[in-house]
Amino acid sequence: MRTSNLRSSNVKKKSSKNSIQLILKKSILPISAFTLFATTVYYWNTKTYGLSLECNGQHIATVADGKVYEEATHLIRNQVLPSEKFKVHTVESKIKITPVSFDECCMQPETVKNKLVEQLNEILSSGYSIYVNDSLITITDNEENIKTALEEILESKKQNFPEAKAEFEDKIEVKKGIFSTENIQPKEKVKEILDSKKYNTTPYIVQDEDSIVEIAKKFDMDIPSLLAINNKNSEDSIFPGDTLNVLVSDNILHVKLTMLERLKEEIPYETICEEDSNLMKGHQEVAQEGSTGLEEVTYRLIYKEGKEINREEIERKILNEPIPEKLLIGTKAQEYLWPVPFTKKVTSPFGPRNKGYHYGMDIACKGVVGTDILAAKDGIVEKVSLGNKGYGNHIIINHEDGTQTLYAHCKKVNVKTNQKVTQGEQIGLVGSTGDSTGPHLHFEVRINGVRKNPADFVS
Ligand SMILES: [Zn+2]
Repeated sequence: MRTSNLRSSNVKKKSSKNSIQLILKKSILPISAFTLFATTVYYWNTKTYGLSLECNGQHIATVADGKVYEEATHLIRNQVLPSEKFKVHTVESKIKITPVSFDECCMQPETVKNKLVEQLNEILSSGYSIYVNDSLITITDNEENIKTALEEILESKKQNFPEAKAEFEDKIEVKKGIFSTENIQPKEKVKEILDSKKYNTTPYIVQDEDSIVEIAKKFDMDIPSLLAINNKNSEDSIFPGDTLNVLVSDNILHVKLTMLERLKEEIPYETICEEDSNLMKGHQEVAQEGSTGLEEVTYRLIYKEGKEINREEIERKILNEPIPEKLLIGTKAQEYLWPVPFTKKVTSPFGPRNKGYHYGMDIACKGVVGTDILAAKDGIVEKVSLGNKGYGNHIIINHEDGTQTLYAHCKKVNVKTNQKVTQGEQIGLVGSTGDSTGPHLHFEVRINGVRKNPADFVS
């Protein structure tokens, strides 16, 4: 293998010598041209040929060949914004390239690029651009300027909420690059620009009641600007239904504040009801007063543009337990009251009578006419009927337990339908109206419409 390699390399050397000899033989060159050609070949062979780059008469760099220079300018082109590309041409047009002889190690493309930018700092500078939501906002020479500006903006938004956590809602990117020196902003300006608003053109349809003054006011614009961006000379050429361009402002950066808020809140007490058979039905008694408790509630709040937009409860800590109210509910049923205090005499009880059935109890005695009829229980008057047939003047009362009582043949009725009556209240006078043979109270007790023996209810 080794032998073979040596042989092939020998062959190559021979052939290259031959080709040079061939060119020399065939060319008819003037002495001077030949000298230059020979010199060049000599440089190539001894590898001391290089290119010197000069700009504005100043030596910038020495590179091994044109490729390194190409790569260096390529690096610049890649790092400048599209709008700045023409400036690279300006730079390139100022570069003077001369072949030189030198022995030292050549510069790398990256070093050459830096040297070029450094030399041409009147036109181009290395710097950092900041993009917010993919839009270029500003450029500065120091990455720290951007960091500081962003921190200061966050801090300023926390002014009223020192405990809050502040963060940007926007996509923020910092890109290193080469920019026009005139566009590089100082530190203070970076913050001012980032903390400002941007204006977007939005269509607005002119309403019937709109005036130019109102539209301008609505969008915080002045009338000349409003007319100008719509290419109008006067408001006379604006009509309802027209679409106008208006400017709507929006912050460049949007800060979200997240903070905790602790509030003391009352805990309402509950009411525990207990039945009490010693207490009359319909009555209740407080056995234990209730009192409200206290708890500390922690909320997580989110503020955007100074407004609360979300409130989430994250913790609830009881400081004082509430004390429940205890309520006794009476279950003792009200007993039926004898409806005619004048007499307790029953002249005809509930049950079979003659060939029929007597569905009530007749209460009567001498002198009973015109005496009081009392409500047997608390209740609401269901019906008052006046007339001289059947029950005659009569009253039906609904009671809370679902029963009804009926008072018939009254001389006088002293209540009205839907009137609330209490036990013992005078509701009419004993008489003999309707199918009656003499003054008496015909008294009935009904459960679900079925007439029961009143003797089982009243004593
Ligand atoms: Zn009767």
